[in-house]
Parts: sequence; C-alpha cells; structure tokens
Amino acid sequence: MSSIKISARLFGLLFLFLLAANWMVWREVALFRQAELRVTFFDVGQGDAILVETPERHLILIDGGPDQSILNHLGRTLPFWQRQIDLIVLTHPHDDHFYGLAQVLDRYQVNQVLWSGVACQGSSCRLWEEALAESSAEIIIAQAGQRIRSDSTFFDILYPLESYYRYLPSNQNDLSVVAQLTYGQQKWLLTGDATAKTENDLMAYWGPALQSQILKVAHHGSRSSSQAEFLDRVNPELAIIMVGADNRYGHPADELLERLAERSIIVRRTDQDGHIKVISNGLNYYYE
Ligand SMILES: [Zn+2]
Repeated sequence: MSSIKISARLFGLLFLFLLAANWMVWREVALFRQAELRVTFFDVGQGDAILVETPERHLILIDGGPDQSILNHLGRTLPFWQRQIDLIVLTHPHDDHFYGLAQVLDRYQVNQVLWSGVACQGSSCRLWEEALAESSAEIIIAQAGQRIRSDSTFFDILYPLESYYRYLPSNQNDLSVVAQLTYGQQKWLLTGDATAKTENDLMAYWGPALQSQILKVAHHGSRSSSQAEFLDRVNPELAIIMVGADNRYGHPADELLERLAERSIIVRRTDQDGHIKVISNGLNYYYE
C-alpha cells in the first residue's frame, strides 16, 4: 500500500517537473523566434533604462538606471543563455542613467559602448570611467549622423551635433545623446535628459525628420523640456515618461502633462504602469 502511495507521489513530482521544463523550453523558443522589435522601458524608479531587442536578436541597452536593479530586469527579460549585449548607450553621465550600466559592463560581454565622451567631475563619474577602462568594449564617441544597423532596424544618432569629447558642459543634460530608432514605418525618439536648448538645436538641424510615433519624454517629464514646439515637431502618438513615484523633483510636471493632453498624446508612466514594453512588426505597434 505504501509503495503505491510513494509511486503516485513520485509520478506527480515527475509530471510537475516535466510541465515546468516544457514551459521553460517553450518560453526560450518564443523569445528566440520573435520576428518583432521589442523596446522595454524598465521601471527603475527615478532614472532611465531602455532595452531594444531587434528581430535579428541584437541587443541595445540605453542607460542603466540608478542602481543594480537593471541586472534583475535583464535576467527576467532575456533568455538565460544571453550573456552578450551588442551596444550600450549612455545618454549622459548622471547617476540615474549610468550607475546600472557600470554593473552591466561588469556582468555581460558588451561589444560596443556609445556615449558623448564628455568630461565629468565627481566620484560617481569616476565610477563610470573606471568601468569603461576595465571593459573590453569598443568605445564610440557619439556624433550626429552615426547609424548603427541591425539588418532591418536603424539606430540613428541625432545629437550631439558634433563631438564633445573631453568637453565639460555647464549642464550635462544639454549634451544628452538623442537617438531615433526606426523599424519599418515605426520610429521611436529617445531623448535622455535633453533640455530646451537641446530641443532647439534638434529642431533647427533635423526639422521634420524628428517625427516619431513614440517619444521617450525627456528628463523624466521635467517642465523645462518637451516644449510645445518640440512636441508639435515630433508629433508622437505615444509618450513614455520614465519617472520614480513621489520623487523629490516633482516629475512629471503638471505643465508637461497638460501639454501632452492638449495634443491627445497617450501617456504611459513607469511609476504607474511599471515596465512598459512596446512591440512592433514594422507596420503597427502595441504596448503592454
Ligand atoms: Zn535623469
């Protein structure tokens, strides 16, 4: 009698094990076989961290958030065997953008790092420079006109307009790397912490080319960025605000939310919606 009970229990355990193994295998297959572009805006609190997964399985990570949580988010998002990241982009050397990237450089095989190469001061900035020095990644100094291509996907650098290597700006946000991602007919504009000055330069230089369906709102929804003229020029359908709940800066600003509402732009916020994933087949997109 007892042996039958044990056998039944063993069978039950075996069944559960096979069920779990089956789920894991199909999850990996589904992740591997995706034919869509996925852009995940991670909820890292007050900071930015954006992962682009191209249909060809190339990975671009733009900023890494203010702490180590990016490692958990990547671990849950990527297949377990994925230890390589093709390109890391640092928009500007402020803690809420680079701190997590230093951890990623330490844990992942990173092929290339693109950033402005500006001079920066303070102990936290040294952390970033040390992480770069220890990494074997190729360093690319950002400049408008550069294009990184993953077969059907383009990643175009729109700003800074010229190299600011070793230049010390009075405001690092002014020299945020701004990039436009294109897949088929879909465009994403990724703005870092761009300021009104950056936006004016972008509008003067790029004009109608700024038009994008999806806008990563600059500087966590600060009122001094995302001017009315800039929003009209980009003309997005969907705006993503990456912001921490109850942050001390009062982001996102009411004025900014009003500017978006006046233009009937759909808003998603990481403080309210958590991770936001925008998935596109090149013709259309949806988000979850
Ligand atoms: Zn920031």
